[in-house]
Amino acid sequence: MTTAPHFPPSGPGARLLIVGPQGSGKGTQGIRIADAYDIPAISTGDMFRAAVASGSDLGKKVTEIIQAGNLVPDELTSAVVRERLSQADAAHGFLLDGYPRNLGQVGDLDAFLSGRGEALDAVIELVVPREESIERLTLRAQEQGRTDDTEQVIANRLAIYERETAPILDVYRERGIALEIDGVGSLDEITDRVIAALEGRGLIRSAAA
Ligand code: ADP
Repeated sequence: MTTAPHFPPSGPGARLLIVGPQGSGKGTQGIRIADAYDIPAISTGDMFRAAVASGSDLGKKVTEIIQAGNLVPDELTSAVVRERLSQADAAHGFLLDGYPRNLGQVGDLDAFLSGRGEALDAVIELVVPREESIERLTLRAQEQGRTDDTEQVIANRLAIYERETAPILDVYRERGIALEIDGVGSLDEITDRVIAALEGRGLIRSAAA
């Protein structure tokens, strides 16, 4: 197994992806890591929910898909992400949360980034036992009332994760950029673990953080 990233990071900033099953805490940790590196946290789930709330054309297209816990078509999702990554604040790095979510999207992201002479620096895999992630999801369902947090829809999202998303980790492992992080512990402990692993790869936090 190789350990070197394809493109060594130059200066502050980092191009990161965080992956983990529903209830792994990837959204929360993603924001913390992005803050530490002074890069935007880009969550496709948040972008789609915002589109639904605003009633935009995109929102109308994705409402039913999200409510069922299915994946929005790759073409649409990848276009949304390309547009977001083209904004100025993502020029020096970004943390993607929830994208890519299947092998097709991995290909789309590769094509987009390589067109800019870029590549992901690291892929953070948050490892959480299934019982724990289900417990956290149940709690979130009570607290936040997300419409896709019903038992049946959660089961569908977890099944899609196992079937479509987990395999993308093999691709990144082969590239030597995957970092497996124990996702059980306090929020601070987990953030510290992620940052230690990233720094171990030479990804140094911005001075401002
Ligand atoms: P979770 O990881 O808890 O399922 P997210 O907030 O990441 O939740 O995503 C919510 C929903 O948004 C997904 O169930 C799916 O319908 C849609 N979605 C998010 N990211 C993607 C993606 N990369 N490809 C397709 N659909 C997506």
